[in-house]
Amino acid sequence: MAKKKRPAKKKPAKKKPAKKKLAKKKLAKKKLAKKKPVKKKPAQRKTTVKQTKESGLALPYFAASIEETSLEDNGETCSFCGAAGALDEYSVKEQIQGSAWVAAGQPREGQVCLDCIRAGRVEYLHKVEWGELTATGVQGNSVRFPYILKGHDKEAVAAGERLLAKIPASAVKELRRTPPFRAWQGAEWLIHCDDFMCFIGVWGQDEFATHSKDPERLYQEMLGDRLDLEYGELFGPHSEVTLYAFRCRHCDRLRGYIDGA
Ligand SMILES: [Zn+2]
Ligand SMILES: [Zn+2]
Repeated sequence: MAKKKRPAKKKPAKKKPAKKKLAKKKLAKKKLAKKKPVKKKPAQRKTTVKQTKESGLALPYFAASIEETSLEDNGETCSFCGAAGALDEYSVKEQIQGSAWVAAGQPREGQVCLDCIRAGRVEYLHKVEWGELTATGVQGNSVRFPYILKGHDKEAVAAGERLLAKIPASAVKELRRTPPFRAWQGAEWLIHCDDFMCFIGVWGQDEFATHSKDPERLYQEMLGDRLDLEYGELFGPHSEVTLYAFRCRHCDRLRGYIDGA
């Protein structure tokens, strides 16, 4: 598979420590912003988007900062509802994993705001653990790559695809309305308890230390079978990989995976 860079924001990337401070400020703003009444007049729509930018996305499968997406107010109006502050460009030419697609009868390409993404006017065909979303549901990786059912880990593949098949249609619909997080080789949603897990952000040493007195052990538990880099290597001076963290919506289990350039 062709390697792809973790797509960057248009703005030059800030150094990590500065970004963390910013995130804390955003959290404080979130608390203040929460009490404001939600207004629905068209003129207020931009405010809705702005608040979302400050407070992060609070979606069933995406509980990280909006900075983790490629969504950004691009100064255009939404092609669907005309609201100012459209966040994403889409084009039906890009019907590939992680890209938006639109149903028949909708504008074929244009700009979309977060409200319209949430309304399902543009949807995303994500890669998921053991497979991918399709326009109608999910399919296991073996549909496209039948040889994996004959490989050395065929039992794991078959078991994983059985888990994927148990995920209800309502969950698939919700994930299609969830924007992807920025990832080196495309966002992939992990699964647990017959559901997709909620993406909670990119984790570094601080996050592991916050969640456990034994960060290395937590790392090993979270990565499980996907552990191919030791904790010290991941956060070592030459590391060029990123760890994406997820929480199960049913049992709170934490999992994650790493990928890199
Ligand atoms: Zn819109
Ligand atoms: Zn679970």
